[in-house]
Amino acid sequence: MKKILVVDDEESIRELYRAELSDEGYEVDLAADGREALRRLDAFRPDLVTLDIKMPGIDGIEVLRRIREKNTTIPVILVSAFGEFKQDFNTWASDAYIVKSHDPTELKETIRKLLEAG
Ligand SMILES: [Mg+2]
Repeated sequence: MKKILVVDDEESIRELYRAELSDEGYEVDLAADGREALRRLDAFRPDLVTLDIKMPGIDGIEVLRRIREKNTTIPVILVSAFGEFKQDFNTWASDAYIVKSHDPTELKETIRKLLEAG
C-alpha cells in the first residue's frame, strides 16, 4: 500500500484528503504544520507528500527545501489557494502544483500519475 503524507494547517482539508485518499486505497498520515510534517516524514516514510504552501511557522516552501536536502526523489505536490501561488525558484523543486479545492479529482489524478511514474 502506497503511503501519502498530507500537510495542511486547515483541518477541513486534512480530513477531506484523508477520506478521499483512503478511499483510493492509500495509507494516509496527516500533519498540521511544517514542524510536524518534518517529524512525520522520518517516522511515516511516505511515498508522496501533498504540501500546503501557506502555514504558520515553517511554510510549505521551507518544508519542500528540507525534504529535498534529505531525499531528492520523493514526489511532492504543492497545494495552495487560488491566486496565492507564485512560481518562483523555490517551487521548482516540486513535482506538481494544484489549486486547493474541495473537488479532489485533480489531486487524485496527479497522485496517480506521480506514483505510476515513480
Ligand atoms: Mg494553509
